[in-house]
Amino acid sequence: MALIVQKFGGTSVGNLDRIANVAAKVRGFRERGDDVVVVVSAMGGETDRLIDLARSVQEPPDPRELDVLLSTGEQVTIALLAMTLQGLGCAARSYTGHQVRIHTDSAHSKARIVSVDHQRIQADLETGRVVVVAGFQGMDEDGDITTLGRGGSDTTAVALAAALGAGECRIYTDVDGVYTTDPRVVPEARRLDSLTFEEMLELASLGAKVLQIRSVEFASKYGVPLRVLSSFEDGPGTLIGPDVEDDPMEQPFISGIAFNRDEAKITVIGVQDRPGVAFSILGPVAAGNIEVDMIVQNSGADGTTDFTFTVHRNDFARTLQIVRERSSQWGASEVTGDDRIVKISLVGVGMRSHAGIASRMFQALAAESINIQMISTSEIKISVVVDEKYLELGVRALHTAFGLDENVVSGERS
Ligand code: ASP
Ligand code: MG
Repeated sequence: MALIVQKFGGTSVGNLDRIANVAAKVRGFRERGDDVVVVVSAMGGETDRLIDLARSVQEPPDPRELDVLLSTGEQVTIALLAMTLQGLGCAARSYTGHQVRIHTDSAHSKARIVSVDHQRIQADLETGRVVVVAGFQGMDEDGDITTLGRGGSDTTAVALAAALGAGECRIYTDVDGVYTTDPRVVPEARRLDSLTFEEMLELASLGAKVLQIRSVEFASKYGVPLRVLSSFEDGPGTLIGPDVEDDPMEQPFISGIAFNRDEAKITVIGVQDRPGVAFSILGPVAAGNIEVDMIVQNSGADGTTDFTFTVHRNDFARTLQIVRERSSQWGASEVTGDDRIVKISLVGVGMRSHAGIASRMFQALAAESINIQMISTSEIKISVVVDEKYLELGVRALHTAFGLDENVVSGERS
């Protein structure tokens, strides 16, 4: 008999029929003899609706009160699911985050889980009940309701799986797993059987919005394997777990290709090549609370150099203004900007044990006459910045070049 923690997202509990579908699934596991803890999100669209309500009353909404409001979304679904389960003859009880004592810090709307008291859940499981827990919410030291940030139910599920020692945390959603890239861009994209926490973190932060990033960090920290599956069709989904190092040569070079359309770059041309210049360019940008992603500085020639960095497109105009206002102090001849760029990244732990990935990547892009504007690398990732008009072409070319297309068997990870 195993203990399973399952999480169902907003689409999966979007109406009463879907809640009935979830209940039937849960009952199936109970009948096989498994203990089941279910974490649910608010019904699809409900959290957005509540945020809109709050904002029509107060702008910006008071953070404490907003959390009181938002936590009601999940409270509705836990009760409806518990009732539906009972209707199927399956003993069940629902709990808010407060009631199971999911303790968090006091950072309203982005609280972090500090600890979970699992006694109450354990006692219910022992009497044969299914335990239904509200995702996305907790309670701080003063007993105030907190929420964990958008998509936070994933993190609730992982925290419960860790606290209860569950073998696996299953995240049921509207897709059947994690894909090699966005199937809307590459129809040949295929579901990955497995990937590592590290790879998932890279793919998530680069825009594969399947899981809340924090839940993956949490799962990685506590070693809880995560499985992403569809709540509508049966299938194995994608298992996200620790790096299996037994035979690194067996690992495919690349697990996935992520991309980000929201990039913009700024180049300061001809700045003096002396200590402190990088700091004096990026210092005021950071002070403006603008996050910088890639940074490239050329090696200096005749005492000057070019300095290029990327920011989110929404911050482009403001960054350009900050930099232009100061450009004379670095002796810069010009400040240029381009907000029609995108970033494409290859991600894979297999890169560690295989040389030549970067040159293969550049060759594949060259074959399509795609100019690379910037390059950055890390141990398991290579990113390039290209003109936005090449996004689809570039991602497709790389997907094929690295053997990720659906009909290709080599590179399949077991
Ligand atoms: N209901 C919250 C949201 O929409 C939390 C979640 O669904 O995970 O972000
Ligand atoms: Mg979600």
